[in-house]
Amino acid sequence: MNSFVKFINPIEHLGSRKYSILFSLILSFAVVLLSEIYSLYVARDPNAVGAYIVFFNAALIVYFSFRDGIRGGLSATAVSVIYYLYIIYSRNYSGAQLISSLETTLVLALLYIFISMVIGWLKQKIDQLIEAEADEKNRLQSILAQLPVGILIADMNLEVVYTNKQIEKILGLKIPTGYKIGIDKPLVNGTWNDKPVTLNDSPIVHTIKTGKPITGREFAITRKDNKRAFIQISSSLITNIRGGNIAGVSIITDITKNKELDMRKDDFINMASHELKTPMTSLKLYVSILKKMQKDISNIKIGTIVKNIEHQAGRLERLVADLLDVSRLQTGKLIFTKQKFDLNKLIRETVDTAQSTTSNHEIVFRKSKNVIVEADRFRIYQVISNLLTNAVKYSPKSKSISVDLKKSGDEIVVSVKDRGVGIARDEKSRIFEKLYQVKANKEKTFPGFGMGLFIAKEIVKRHKGKIWVESEPGRGSTFYFSLPV
Ligand code: ADP
Repeated sequence: MNSFVKFINPIEHLGSRKYSILFSLILSFAVVLLSEIYSLYVARDPNAVGAYIVFFNAALIVYFSFRDGIRGGLSATAVSVIYYLYIIYSRNYSGAQLISSLETTLVLALLYIFISMVIGWLKQKIDQLIEAEADEKNRLQSILAQLPVGILIADMNLEVVYTNKQIEKILGLKIPTGYKIGIDKPLVNGTWNDKPVTLNDSPIVHTIKTGKPITGREFAITRKDNKRAFIQISSSLITNIRGGNIAGVSIITDITKNKELDMRKDDFINMASHELKTPMTSLKLYVSILKKMQKDISNIKIGTIVKNIEHQAGRLERLVADLLDVSRLQTGKLIFTKQKFDLNKLIRETVDTAQSTTSNHEIVFRKSKNVIVEADRFRIYQVISNLLTNAVKYSPKSKSISVDLKKSGDEIVVSVKDRGVGIARDEKSRIFEKLYQVKANKEKTFPGFGMGLFIAKEIVKRHKGKIWVESEPGRGSTFYFSLPV
């Protein structure tokens, strides 16, 4: 029954371009046959059906044009017109009646053809559009299915309407369409920022509820087979052509391999720097013994060599210390011991140490009145020292470097200004990233690993302060950092 209704309902044939004429021929023929039987054997009057059959045929032609396109309409038209001609012939019309019925048949034929053409053409156009849209959808779906990332689309009621097969691989669980996020189980079981994931942490839930996209939120999850994995999820809204929100899409990437590599790298750096630290300490010790002995030997050549060894050992020591700090920051193992101290004094010491390493620069410090802060003294020293080392390093052709300390409201701001090479606009935010170095022709001129500013930023951040830079290429840079008083 269901398939019979489907067969005769023209709406069910929208989008299908299989246009048959058989059904239209058979049904039209059956109708005219019934009409003929009715007039001749039931009503026993050859003209009993009369004008009714005209409307009946017109209705059939509309129906078949809509069901089977132009062909359907025209085949029903053909049966009707042949039937009219048969009536004229079989009823023996003659004279004026013959002419007028031929004329009527001609007019009706033209009308039927017109109806078949217009409705049939519209129906075929609609079919083409539906097919083109279906093709487009298929194309899109096969692209989505091939992507190496997981894709999940949910409607505005958080009901899943599409997932590709990578989702199952990445999350380790099947999410069928119709799955209601939040009402059924939470989408991912795991942690975000070391806390168990709640429904609102889920990017797609957040995006659908607030309209705001999320980029690259990282989760640690435990898959069904108890395997730990790391995934990154981004989400945004999908809008229709009128700009209304219709769904949310999540793009899920498996970043387990990168994470593991990252962790291995951190472990390696940690281990390597610990290993390097011990020989470095002994090296420094031996150098200082040599230095003492050298006073007795009073050989100038050996004196220079010892000084160079000391200088190089110092550089290596700083590098190892930076490596260790980066690794500790990464693993949250950098510990701060806060104490109250006068920042003026600390800056003075740092400036003096930096000044002793360069005779080409003059570092001027303008102190402020009595500034007592509560912070990790050594780590703040490290920040200022790093800014000063950079100021010296990146201003090879200019002499002046100035350090300022200003109190404004409940913060103090330290600035280190040089008139050196400066930093391009788009590099300014990136220089604070881990291992980031500005790459230009000068890459060989300035040694370094790009760790200093990253460490400085993390130290300042953990003191609830800010660090930033103002700079113009070729004119110099001023680095600022603030600390709450
Ligand atoms: P490193 O100096 O070891 O490369 P940093 O993290 O200290 O690493 O600095 C990152 C980048 O920022 C440097 O490579 C350099 O290009 C830029 N930079 C830092 N300080 C200055 C400065 N005072 N003037 C110009 N560029 C600077």
